[in-house]
Amino acid sequence: TGKFFVGGNWKCNGTKDSIKQLVSDLNSATLEPDVDVVVGPPFVYLDLVKSSLTDRIEISAQNSWIGKGGAFTGEISAEQLIDIGCKWLILGHSERRHVIGEDDQFIGKKAAYALGQNLGVIACIGELLEEREAGKTFEVCFKQLKAYADAVPSWDNIVIAYEPVWAIGTGKVASPEQAQEVHVAVRDWLAKNVSAEVASKTRIIYGGSVNAGNSAELAKKEDIDGFLVGGASLKGSDFATIINSVT
Ligand code: 13P
Repeated sequence: TGKFFVGGNWKCNGTKDSIKQLVSDLNSATLEPDVDVVVGPPFVYLDLVKSSLTDRIEISAQNSWIGKGGAFTGEISAEQLIDIGCKWLILGHSERRHVIGEDDQFIGKKAAYALGQNLGVIACIGELLEEREAGKTFEVCFKQLKAYADAVPSWDNIVIAYEPVWAIGTGKVASPEQAQEVHVAVRDWLAKNVSAEVASKTRIIYGGSVNAGNSAELAKKEDIDGFLVGGASLKGSDFATIINSVT
């Protein structure tokens, strides 16, 4: 479905030196042409990365303020992200849901505002281990999806990232079958609750312990339209291998 999409979520990692090195490695990497590639540096390095990274790769932020900028100490607005050349925004990541405490409604509002400013949204969903073990994977994912669907005016600029929380940063990647099963369920949910067109057009990418050794098997699955990569996106050569695993 659509063009393969690979995002690198750098999270709260890197220094000026390590990021310059990573940018240089990415600039010299050979990347499959038919893949959308996006990297998400920490806010403070966005401008450095935007001005030094090849235009082949778009830039994403990892968070934004919920609305228009102003007297909101410590926040960054969608307008400011657009101003420095950002094209994407990661929202609903499990670390923001479960570590920072953002809820569905708050995330939905951020998504709607960002889309209105012409940022693309990488909308994350995913269940905790205890929820999977209790047989609630679909229920949890659908509830998170519904919050986006209730808030956003259009799905044109949204990529859904299925990131099971138990797979994030644990080395316990979902099997291709486990990921495919949820991706199909997400697509069915979109068909029933949004539209058949959105279901067939929206890219559903997988995240959680994706690395250079497991991406090719995952990429073979019909409903896995790309990846959101954490740890392995901090190494240029591994990230390039993952991008090039498109099938
Ligand atoms: P890891 O690839 O480090 O498991 O992180 C995945 C993730 O959270 C991407 O957003």
